[in-house]
Amino acid sequence: MENAVVKAEKLAILGQMAAGMVHEIRNPLTAVGCFLQLLHKCLKGNPKEEYIPIMLAELNHANRLISEFLQFAKPGYSRPGRCSIVEIIKDVVLLVESEALSRQFNIEVDLDVNIPKIIVDSGQLKQVFINIIKNAFDALSEGGKIFVQTTWNELEGFVQISFRDTGVGIDKETLENMFNPFFTTKESGTGLGMFTSKKIIDNHGGRIEIQSEPGKGTTVTVLLPVEQQHAYTRTGI
Ligand code: ADP
Repeated sequence: MENAVVKAEKLAILGQMAAGMVHEIRNPLTAVGCFLQLLHKCLKGNPKEEYIPIMLAELNHANRLISEFLQFAKPGYSRPGRCSIVEIIKDVVLLVESEALSRQFNIEVDLDVNIPKIIVDSGQLKQVFINIIKNAFDALSEGGKIFVQTTWNELEGFVQISFRDTGVGIDKETLENMFNPFFTTKESGTGLGMFTSKKIIDNHGGRIEIQSEPGKGTTVTVLLPVEQQHAYTRTGI
């Protein structure tokens, strides 16, 4: 039987190949996108002009799909360090704030500044939190709200970050499938956000919990252990 080291090496090689392929695919897609935009200008007033935004939207979808695929297929180890969850959340909120403003959503943040720093990969965690907030955006209609709260359960030794939205909520079938790769209920979704996020949180020794009521909203809670002695985490396939 194949031993674990050989298997890990094979997976690493596969991951490297996948990452290489993703780059090779992305470059021509970018070129096609640029030329389509040029063509759009040339076709102004032409009845066929309407095809261009459709093509650009499809191209955009393909680009997002391969970018999200790259996030979990890429090889290599993450760089964990002792980080402040509060600072990570502040950075993430700053990143998504302009989109929230333009879509008339309100983000309320309640951060417990006494939370101890924990060993995490801040880049990967930011990716998880952005995924969760973007999903909340997609579930909201104008005037919708998102509450982000961090708490520290000192007794049980974990940090809890919850994202509550007042969106459409999640039905039973979606709840059962939302962590599966490529499962999406959106026309232009990739179905990789929750799958990748769960992988990252699993690798940190934590877990993600979902509570939802259709028509009322959803709370996504990320729980991370305070004491984490892992040397590295891996996001590979
Ligand atoms: P995508 O966003 O590309 O569809 P995800 O893996 O991020 O992929 O999410 C999977 C599905 O989970 C979404 O299509 C959506 O149906 C559901 N979902 C996730 N978060 C929420 C939320 N906050 N409110 C409602 N549905 C959600």
